[in-house]
Amino acid sequence: MKTIGHFINGKHVEGTSGRFAPVFNPATGQQTAAVALADASELEAAVAAAAAAQPAWAATNPQRRARVFFRFVDLINKHMDELAEMLSAEHGKTIEDSKGDIIRGMEVAEFVCGVPHLQKGEFTEGAGPGIDMYSMRQPLGIGAGITPFNFPAMIPIWMLAPAIATGNAFILKPSERDPSVPMRLAELLAEAGLPAGVFNVVNGDKTAVDAILAHNRIDGVSFVGSTPIARYVYATAAAHGKRVQAFGGAKNHMIIMPDADIEQAANALVGAGYGSAGERCMAISVAVPVGEETASRLLDALVPKIENLKIGPYTDPGAEMGPVVTRAAQERILSLIDSGERQGARLVVDGRTFRLQGYEDGFFVGATLFDHVTPEMDIYREEIFGPVLSVVRANSYQEALELPLRHEYGNGVAIFTRDGDTARDFASRINIGMVGINVPIPTPLAYYSFGGWKASAFGDLNQHGTDSIRFWTRTKTVTSRWPSGIKEGASFSMPTM
Ligand code: NAD
Repeated sequence: MKTIGHFINGKHVEGTSGRFAPVFNPATGQQTAAVALADASELEAAVAAAAAAQPAWAATNPQRRARVFFRFVDLINKHMDELAEMLSAEHGKTIEDSKGDIIRGMEVAEFVCGVPHLQKGEFTEGAGPGIDMYSMRQPLGIGAGITPFNFPAMIPIWMLAPAIATGNAFILKPSERDPSVPMRLAELLAEAGLPAGVFNVVNGDKTAVDAILAHNRIDGVSFVGSTPIARYVYATAAAHGKRVQAFGGAKNHMIIMPDADIEQAANALVGAGYGSAGERCMAISVAVPVGEETASRLLDALVPKIENLKIGPYTDPGAEMGPVVTRAAQERILSLIDSGERQGARLVVDGRTFRLQGYEDGFFVGATLFDHVTPEMDIYREEIFGPVLSVVRANSYQEALELPLRHEYGNGVAIFTRDGDTARDFASRINIGMVGINVPIPTPLAYYSFGGWKASAFGDLNQHGTDSIRFWTRTKTVTSRWPSGIKEGASFSMPTM
C-alpha cells in the first residue's frame, strides 16, 4: 500500500506520528493509499523550514518571484493529464472536471505572475512641506492554508499562489481525503525554482489544524471547508492573533422566471446540480420556478435529462458524473434523501437505488430530484453536498427572492430571465456574494475575487483577485522628511581657515 507523508523543506518526509488515514478510489471503494496524519512536532519542522526560508524569499525581487509562477504554470500544463488522473482517482470526479479544477487553480497562478505590479505601494510627493508619504505592502511572514476535499488542485493554488508570490512562506494542510495532487504541486513548485522551505505540505486532520491555529510563528490562515469548521477556525485563529479568512458551506438557489428560456435553464440545472456529483460549493441545490406553469414546464424538461445522466467511474470517458468522495458521505446523503421523503417532499427521481455493474462497492449515489420542497425541511436547510436537487415552488418574484435572502448561507445564487430590469433588481437586492444572471455557477475569474456572505464566509477579504494580495500582505506607511543636506550647505570656493 502506498503511503503519503509530508513535503517539508523541499523534500518528501515520512510521517512520524504513527497515525494514518485511508485514501480511497471512490469509484471502486478500494483503499489506494494511507496518508500520514501529522502531530504538532511535524508541523514544527515545517514552521522551522518556512521561517528559515522566508526572509530571503521576501527579499527576492518581485519579478524573480513571478518567474517561478510562470514556470509553475508551464509545468502544470505539461503535467495536466497526469494531474487530472491523480485527482480523479482520489476524488471521483470525471477527468474533464478534474481538468477544470486544475485550470481554475492555474489561472490564479497566472494572475500572480503580475505580482510586481499588484504589490506596488502608493507615493505622495509633498504631502506636507518637504514631506513625502508612501506605503509598502510587505508579506505577513508565514501563511497557512487548510483546504477541503472537493477542489484538491484549485483551492490549494488559490491560497499558495498569492501567499508565496507576495513573499510569504506557506504551509498547506490539504484534505486527508485526496492528498496526492497537493503533494505533486509541491514537487512542481520545487521544479519551477521555488527555494526549499518556502512551500511545505503537512498532511493531517484536526490535530494538525489545531497546531496551525495555535502556532505563534504562523501569521495568517486561510481556510475553506464546511461552515462549522470555518466558524471554529475563524474564532480560534483570531483568538491567537492571526489574520484569518474562513470560507464555509453553501445552499445555492437558482430562480427561474416565467420568461426564462426553459431549455437553457434545465440544461444549466443539470450541469450545476449534478456536475461533480453536487460536491461543489457553487453547485445549485435549490431550483425556484416562479409560477405553476413555469414549474411544470421546467420539470417536463428537467426530468428526462436527469434520468439520462450517465453516471460512472472517471475511467469511463462517457461518464458525466462520478461517485461521492467517501462511504460516510454516501450514507449521509442517502439518509438526507430519506428525510426529504419522510418530511413530505415529492421524490420525482430517486437515486438511492442506483447500482453500477462492476462497481458495486463504489460510493455512488444516483441523481435525485425532489419537488414541493418547503423551507422547514432538512433537505432545504442543510447543505447536502451530493447529487440532490430540490424544487421549491414560488408564486411571485418577491416570494422567490425571499428564499435565498432568508437562507443561512450566502455563497452563490442565480436568476434565469429575459428581463433586464428583474435581473438588475435581483443583483442589487440579494445578500449573497456571487450572483449569476442566466449563468448557473457564477464562479468569478482569477482577477476578480471569490467569496460568499452570511454563514458562507468569515473574515473580510476574499480569495484571489486583488483581495488576495491584500490578505497576504500588510501595509506599512512611511512619512519622511529629510533635513536640508549637502545641497544647502555646499561651498564651491577653496576652503580657508
Ligand atoms: P471539512 O470542513 O470537513 O474539511 C475541511 C478541512 O478542515 C480539511 O482539511 C479537514 O482536514 C479539516 N477539518 C475537518 N474537521 C476538522 C475539525 N474538527 N477541526 C479542524 N479541522 C478540521 O470540509 P470538506 O468535507 O473537506 O469540504 C466540503 C465543504 O467545503 C462543503 O461544506 C463545501 O461547501 C465547502 N467548500 C466551500 C468553499 C467556499 O469557497 N466557500 C469551496 C469549496 C468547498
